[in-house]
Amino acid sequence: MKKMMAANWKMYKNRFEARMMLQDLLYLAKGLPEDREVVIFPPFTLLGTVSEELQGVSVYSLGGQDVYPAAEGAFTGEIAPGMLQDCGCAWVLTGHSERRHILGESDEFVGKKTAFSLESGLGVVLCVGETLEQREAGELSAVLARQMLSGLASVAVDLAPARLCIAYEPVWAIGTGKVAGPKEILEAHAEVRKCLEEKFLDNGNKIRILYGGSVKPENAAEILQLDNVNGVLVGGASLQAETFSQIILS
Ligand code: PEP
Repeated sequence: MKKMMAANWKMYKNRFEARMMLQDLLYLAKGLPEDREVVIFPPFTLLGTVSEELQGVSVYSLGGQDVYPAAEGAFTGEIAPGMLQDCGCAWVLTGHSERRHILGESDEFVGKKTAFSLESGLGVVLCVGETLEQREAGELSAVLARQMLSGLASVAVDLAPARLCIAYEPVWAIGTGKVAGPKEILEAHAEVRKCLEEKFLDNGNKIRILYGGSVKPENAAEILQLDNVNGVLVGGASLQAETFSQIILS
């Protein structure tokens, strides 16, 4: 199972900056271990540019940061799975906490996006994670179980496990510089693994679980060697080639 090293560029970079960053990254991250794959999730406006820059670089692939659960239609401002694929995407993010908490996406809508994207042939990284208030109220397991159940409600149980990843991202650790400690990561990833095994039986053990939340060059290696950590989803530190290359080589 390859570890997925995912870069979420959020709403950053223009075409020139994206080209420069990727050229530097490919140079700095030469000798990427064979057990790694890298996925770049740029804003929609950069999908074409990133796809061109990554042409022929087999361990790198491209993903959309969001998707609408329909093949086409009168949905102004939205993007269909087929449109992402047409731009070279193999992956899409669903349920990122910024979409849940800033844009008000419900668990049910995240579930629709997840199932429809998988049915359409995209791989999905479904993001789950608790807020600080939920953690302090002892609700970690309940929140993760709810987000996993509704996120995967309409996903076929015989799904090929390589096509789905879960990113555990504690909301309080995203973009805050606060990273979850090993104990907190182990506990949450074990909960996620339990939910995956309940739904997908033996295949639940083959689905990758990524950690996300203030991953940096200084903490990546320690996080990556923890049980049930099969990759990382990186926001801020994925924007610079210097920091992201160090993380993916960790
Ligand atoms: C993210 O956006 O998914 C993320 C984990 O951000 P950061 O690494 O900046 O905390």
